[in-house]
Formats: sequence, C-alpha cells, structure tokens
Amino acid sequence: MFEKVLIANRGEIALRIHRACQELGIQTVAVHSTADAKAMHVRLADESVCIGPPAAKDSYLDISRIIAAAEITGADAIHPGYGFLSENARFAEITTAHNIAFIGPSADHIRVMGDKIAAKDTMGKAGIPLVPGSDGGIRDVEEGLKVAREIGYPVLVKAASGGGGRGMKLARTENDLEDAILTAKSEAKAAFGDDAVYLEKYLELPRHIEIQIVADSHGNVVQLGERDCSLQRRNQKLLEEALSPVLTPEQRAEIGEITRAAIEKLGYLGVGTVEYLYEDGRFYFIEMNTRIQVEHPITEQVTDVDLIREQIRIAAGEKLTIKQSDVTFKGHAIECRINAEDPRTFTPSPGKITDFHPPGGPGVRFDSGVYDGYQIPPYYDSMIGKLIVYGDSRELCLARLRRALQETVITGVKTTVPLFGALLDEPDFQKGDYHIHWLEEWLARDGS
Ligand code: ADP
Repeated sequence: MFEKVLIANRGEIALRIHRACQELGIQTVAVHSTADAKAMHVRLADESVCIGPPAAKDSYLDISRIIAAAEITGADAIHPGYGFLSENARFAEITTAHNIAFIGPSADHIRVMGDKIAAKDTMGKAGIPLVPGSDGGIRDVEEGLKVAREIGYPVLVKAASGGGGRGMKLARTENDLEDAILTAKSEAKAAFGDDAVYLEKYLELPRHIEIQIVADSHGNVVQLGERDCSLQRRNQKLLEEALSPVLTPEQRAEIGEITRAAIEKLGYLGVGTVEYLYEDGRFYFIEMNTRIQVEHPITEQVTDVDLIREQIRIAAGEKLTIKQSDVTFKGHAIECRINAEDPRTFTPSPGKITDFHPPGGPGVRFDSGVYDGYQIPPYYDSMIGKLIVYGDSRELCLARLRRALQETVITGVKTTVPLFGALLDEPDFQKGDYHIHWLEEWLARDGS
C-alpha cells in the first residue's frame, strides 16, 4: 500500500480523498492555490504545498508544479479527483514516468475515452449499445446529409473532442443540417483545436442513466448498478438518484452485465462510469468517464462499497474487496448538489459563509469542505457541498431529504437549497417521472 498520497484537487473531493487515505493509514499531501490556503483539506492534510496563484491554469492545472510538490514531499501516488487533470492522459503519463502511481486508469484508456469518436468505436466493438449515427467522423456536409437521411431527423452534430455540452448542434430537418455542421465544426475548432464532428440520432426525451464500474489488476471487474442523473440544467447535473426509479431488476441486471463484460474486454483498470441515454426501454452509450464522479456517494450508500478506498487499493495493486456475486442493492439514495448560486438565475454567489450548520441524523451525509466563516473563492466551481440522503425506500429517502433541507443552515451566500425544497413538492419528481429536459422545462414554467 502507498505511504503518502498527494491530492491534486480541492473542495469536497479533496477532503473525501483525505478521509479515505486516513482510514487506510496513508499520509496525505494537500496542494493548493493561494486562494485555498485556508481550505479544510489543507488544514487536515498531513502536509501541504502552495502551488501557485488562484487561476487554475497556474495551480491545479499546472502539471510541473504538482509533480514538483509530489517529489519534494516524497509522495508515492497522486489522486487527481474529478475535473482539473483527472482525465488528462499526459498527466497520467508524466506521473508514472516519475515513478509516482497515478490513481486512475492507464493513459491509453483516458485518451481513447477522451475522443468521442474513438470511444464510440471502441465501446461498440466491446458490445455496448450505441446511438445510431455516422460510422466515425463525417468528412463534409455531403456525407452528413447522406448519413442523416439514413438515420432520420432530428440529428445531433457532435464534436469528437467535445465536453460540457460544447460543440453540439441540433438539426431538426435537412434545411438545418449544413448550418449545424459548419457551426459545430467552427465552435469545436475554437474551443478544442479539433474540428472533427460526427452525427447521432437525436433522442427526444431520454433519461440519463450511468453504470458504475470498478476493475482491479487481477482481472476482477464489478458493476455497482446505476445512477439516474436526468435532472440537469445546461447539461449540469443537479440531483442524482440510485437506483433509477424506472428500471426493472431485469433491465438493471442486463445493462449492468453488458457494461461489465465490455469493461472486462477493454482491460480497464480503476473506477469508471459508462453513461447512457435511456429511452423507450433501450440504452444508448454517450460517453465513459475515466475518473471518480461527483455523484459517487449515492452508489456507496446503496451498495456499501467505499469507492475511493477501492480506487486507492486498486492503484496499489490490491484485489477488489468484493466480487460481483457479493453486490446487492439496498434502499434508495439521492444526492443534491448544493451550490453557491442564486436558486432562480443560477448566477454564482461567492462570498463569506457567515453561519453553517449541515443537516444530520439517520440516513444523512453531507460531503463538503466549508465551515463557519469560510470564504468561497470566485475562481472555481460554485459547489458548497453534496447532501446525500439514504432510506430503506425511495419514499423514506424523500421524507428525509425534505427534513434535511429544512435543517440546513448556510447564510451569507445564496444557495440552491430552496430549489430542492420546491422540487420535492412536484408530483412528477415524487413519482420519478422525468427526463433530461424536465428540470429546464419546470424552471421555465413554475420552478423556484
Ligand atoms: P459532453 O461531453 O459535452 O457532456 P455528452 O455526449 O455527454 O457530451 O452529451 C451531453 C448531453 O447532451 C447528454 O447528457 C444529453 O443530455 C445530450 N445528448 C448527447 N447526445 C444526445 C443524443 N444523441 N440525443 C439527445 N441528447 C443527447
């Protein structure tokens, strides 16, 4: 096992990783920008190194500074968390080249999944169901028109290097397609330096359902069921549930096994998430995330598997503590992302938290790095913490969520807490009857 892990991240995930390390008897090194000198994970870590000014490109995204901090402190592994460098294949390569273990998959797997065309091709060959579309990238508008006629409108033009919903254009009819292709190409060129695009059938009202995978270096691959992340605004997830309120046990077992078998075929190592759109009883692959995800705790709650602990153990060459036959799902879990944002306009609201009292009691977990008097810096994402609620049934989980939201005290900044309170009153949400556009429609109609 490692002796010292450097945590190349900030906020709640840095603290989450620190906690897992502590429980494994591993020393931790926090790296931080000048803006995060007083962050909770910095205070709790065994050692800390300031790696630069607030701008992420000069601190959390600066590979040489992070490697230098690892060398100076003698860390034998780096955990990248999510965001920042977590899906940067070069960072994984450089880390290993310095004889430091990268707590994540191989650089090759990161690279393949970072290119959407390559990812789709690889996953399709491994037996994963795909959205009908072009076979690889399209060369020009002519080819696009031909493919679209075959798959039928509406179609989505997507950038191979896309991310965060950028470089994606919808064409409802043939008249829109040329424009959609040319705009997607120029946006992708500007944002990612790569204008490769491909076409996909546009699914009208799908759900977003993703499968959690863990794989060790001894050939064991286990799937831990799904998370339903359909409640999104501008492609950003706001609330996630495990398990999905709409899958039958048979559907769950089937897509779980298809995903598990594909990951085994790829020889993938570590934790990962395979994301699907789900419509009319069918699954369609959209992407694979080769890192731990924000919403991992809801899977932890319903399976009793500590994903960060497993992730560290796997990177150290140990065997998974569970086999597929040990995995059972118990109860229901929901996560709400509590952001420092105006609950109506979603404008970020950085500033000082004057009073902070997280909710507690049975079935309530609050993963956060903030405290009374904490100053939320304006330079990073606006997440204050994650409220994770668990209950034996979805009904109890919803009752606990309502109770936990009422207990939550965060003053001094605006937060998304009131939004979740209003959501709980919605019959569609209560029934679990929603899709990826539901939240935006609700917000436009009568939300908040
Ligand atoms: P990104 O990497 O930019 O997040 P994704 O491929 O994951 O791109 O897609 C982001 C979101 O766009 C999905 O969560 C879904 O809401 C929507 N989307 C992607 N592909 C399709 C499709 N074929 N039909 C309908 N919606 C889609």
